[in-house]
Amino acid sequence: MNTTTALPLIDTIYIDGQFVTPQGTELFDLHNPATEQVVARVRLGDREDARRAIAAAKRAFERFSRSSVAERIALLQRLHAAVAARENDIRAAMQLEYGAPDGFARFAAKHAADAFTNMVETLRRYEFTRRIGTAEVQMEPVGVVALITPWNSNAGFICNKLATAIAAGCTAVIKPSEMSAQQTQVVLEALHAADLPAGLFNIVNGRGDVVGDEFSAHPDVSKVSFTGSTAVGKAILRAGAETLKRVTLELGGKSPTLLLPDADFTSAIPLTVRAGFINSGQACIAGTRILVPEARMDEALAAIRTAVEAIRVGPASDPASEIGPMVSARQWERVQGYIALGAEEGAQLLTGGPGRPEHLSEGWFVRPTVFAGVRNDMRIAREEIFGPVLCVIGYRDEEDAIAIANDTNYGLQASVYGSDFAHARKVASRLQAGRVLINGLHHEPLAPFGGFKQSGIGREFGAFGLEAYLEPKTLLGAV
Ligand code: NAD
Repeated sequence: MNTTTALPLIDTIYIDGQFVTPQGTELFDLHNPATEQVVARVRLGDREDARRAIAAAKRAFERFSRSSVAERIALLQRLHAAVAARENDIRAAMQLEYGAPDGFARFAAKHAADAFTNMVETLRRYEFTRRIGTAEVQMEPVGVVALITPWNSNAGFICNKLATAIAAGCTAVIKPSEMSAQQTQVVLEALHAADLPAGLFNIVNGRGDVVGDEFSAHPDVSKVSFTGSTAVGKAILRAGAETLKRVTLELGGKSPTLLLPDADFTSAIPLTVRAGFINSGQACIAGTRILVPEARMDEALAAIRTAVEAIRVGPASDPASEIGPMVSARQWERVQGYIALGAEEGAQLLTGGPGRPEHLSEGWFVRPTVFAGVRNDMRIAREEIFGPVLCVIGYRDEEDAIAIANDTNYGLQASVYGSDFAHARKVASRLQAGRVLINGLHHEPLAPFGGFKQSGIGREFGAFGLEAYLEPKTLLGAV
């Protein structure tokens, strides 16, 4: 493949309300994962670019920290209009950049724009000043915040974190995933069109261990809100320890789906499979461990196999595609490694397996794969694979099921299916996860989202999310 011909080059970053050329000189290739071809390049910023962004955000904080709630609401409404106007472009960039299936890309693009109106709703109800006994408690913005996002749903994460920062009166420096530079570019153009005060948000494309590390360690950054892998979350905690940074960490998962003995498999299994393969399996919330009563195992495996084999794998250019490619060659290799490992560990391949689906001749596509007979101590059941690979684990009775569901380092999401709703709800209350879905794929944008255990620290969305960008100050003798 000839990559020397002129490719689109993204060579600006955004500092102090202006598109500027980064000082960094490294070029990073952006691929179309459905064809494996390089389609664009991005010029990466360096530590000095990161420091310029922090300085701009620090200057802007002096005024914006004193802004009124009415002013913040007006900015959020302008941001919503500007991002909503580019929803189709965000979706197209997600599809080109990582082959996001159409349904997911539409949801994610709308979710990005809605983040601003959700925060308006939150702000309207939020009390920044409260009385506690003889004290007046004021909630103050924490300072300059660094927002570091992963490649999957990069636009949604940027918009949600930025909406929350603005609602709190913070100013932001943003480091999106370098792999999502095309999506970032569309979002950035939209945010710029909203005509915000200079320095309120700044965006620097760059490597995680360069720009991300500078943001995480810099003394003028008060808080880091990070979404990404657990390993990088730990690195960010370490980098911020010296200056005791506040953190919100949204990390990985290995979410269980409990099919209770009385579950209606006809409705539950298609939803279970969908939840396992959300965003082609490249989602923190993917329900990758399916827990099935041993007494109904044969019935469950037959239904899972039927549901999985009906799924269409293909490029995002085909709107019927339900599973797209892996984001990179590296991720494809990694998922293939886990498929090989499943067999080595003694799990039985129910469907799928190594290699690319036969009907596709190019692209980083994986065969939707399910392992049966998985034990919860196997690595395929413990480690986040981040691809379309599911584990079916048998359980003896309900206590056994709850113990297996909770026997994980993660705790982001769990699902429970059962015909007796009151009983399913009781089981849900015993699961160690930040969000538990009962009998369906539900979503509530103002409710807290985040993980127990190594799935993270803190919560995002709504008032819980907002509070993570605020410091309470107690005034005594004031009332
Ligand atoms: P990643 O952790 O590799 O990268 C995320 C971001 O961190 C990128 O912008 C990257 O450049 C940056 N980064 C890398 N090293 C850094 C460092 N040393 N210091 C600061 N920043 C650094 O994750 P990814 O591959 O982009 O995304 C996939 C991961 O994200 C999965 O583990 C997934 O579960 C997780 N995720 C979690 C949620 C959630 O809400 N809990 C949502 C989506 C994705």
